[in-house]
Amino acid sequence: MTPGHTPPFVVVSARGVQRVRGGHPWIYRSDVADVQAEAGDIVQVLGPHERPIGYAFYSDRSQITLRMVSRGEARPDTALWRGRLEAALAFREALRLDATAYRLVHAEGDLLPSLVVDRYGDCLVVQALSQATDRLLPALVTMLVELIGPRGILARNDPRARLLEGLTQDVAVVYGEVPDTLTVTEGGVEYAVDPWRGQKTGLFLDQRENREAAARYAGGRLLDCFSYNGGFALHLAPHCQQVTAIDVSEEAVGRITRNAARNRLGHVTAYAANVFDELRRLEHDGDRFDTIVLDPPAFAKNKAAVPKALAGYKEINLRALKLLTPGGCLVTCSCSHHVDEAMFLRVVHEAALDAACEVTLVEKRMQGRDHPVLLGVPETYYLKCLILRKVG
Ligand code: SAH
Repeated sequence: MTPGHTPPFVVVSARGVQRVRGGHPWIYRSDVADVQAEAGDIVQVLGPHERPIGYAFYSDRSQITLRMVSRGEARPDTALWRGRLEAALAFREALRLDATAYRLVHAEGDLLPSLVVDRYGDCLVVQALSQATDRLLPALVTMLVELIGPRGILARNDPRARLLEGLTQDVAVVYGEVPDTLTVTEGGVEYAVDPWRGQKTGLFLDQRENREAAARYAGGRLLDCFSYNGGFALHLAPHCQQVTAIDVSEEAVGRITRNAARNRLGHVTAYAANVFDELRRLEHDGDRFDTIVLDPPAFAKNKAAVPKALAGYKEINLRALKLLTPGGCLVTCSCSHHVDEAMFLRVVHEAALDAACEVTLVEKRMQGRDHPVLLGVPETYYLKCLILRKVG
């Protein structure tokens, strides 16, 4: 027991204090010395000799025991959460995004750990990914209603991350009404989004600006690999003569086809295939493309998976470079935060060496600006997007 402090509190080791000083909001179980708290409490964090460090979200299940929310002396209250939500909304407003779907709250990147809020037109989709955020959710929903006045709010609380917190996986309307299908726009493209069942919260919002950037270089025959609902294919299509989109999921192919028709893009074709097999087949058949997009799912979900993930990235980049015409453009992405930018650049270089071609780096990009990266927290910089040109 630590006298002189009222629970809930958690005492951390000197190493834990160091991490917080270094700007990282997470403290792992191995750096926790004493816990006087319940699951999901907002706790005072004390260092050795009971030195107050700040306040954090406490989890009794996750390896990430504490997520710092303030470094001050005052206990976080409703005004703090409201202020952070307001700041997050004001920043999105300032970005003047040419889209009706975007991320309003990006967890740690908006100093609201493990909370995601995405906007799809007049509806919001929220995710609470830790015990404390889950407990705070009703209060946060009330604030979002007051600040935004949406038609409805859906809690997409089905990510696997919730299992690590001992939380249930469920999807439910927490305010108003949310239809099965919402219509949103991104630049000139209109999509039908299924917020209930679509991947993530419905769309891959983090690629919006990379789609815009890629459109500046696209031309000729386009191959969009790992296409999902055709985000890249549809944005690049107006600049290309012919567009082929591939995804392993039949359901995704249906979405691409419907979205292509909705945007009157008759030259977009989609079919279901495994990209790994399909790139080899296309190469073998002598097919060639002027623009190729590679946007695979995260190959490295944890550190142990990194070597295998690098082999996967190398394989698809090597095949794509072989399929690319000289002067062609490769847009290649990785959303595994365990594979950092330097590793990704190295593996793409190795692919170019094996494909025996010269490649220049035209743009080095990341997730959209509505998904802010917190300095000192590499986990928040997860999406890498390289725009490359095959010069010879
Ligand atoms: N490019 C998309 C997002 C891609 S998400 C966008 O801009 O919105 C990754 C997609 O890859 C998912 O739709 C998934 O179904 C698909 N996928 C996963 N493994 C695959 C494989 N081996 N071959 C083809 N598609 C795959």
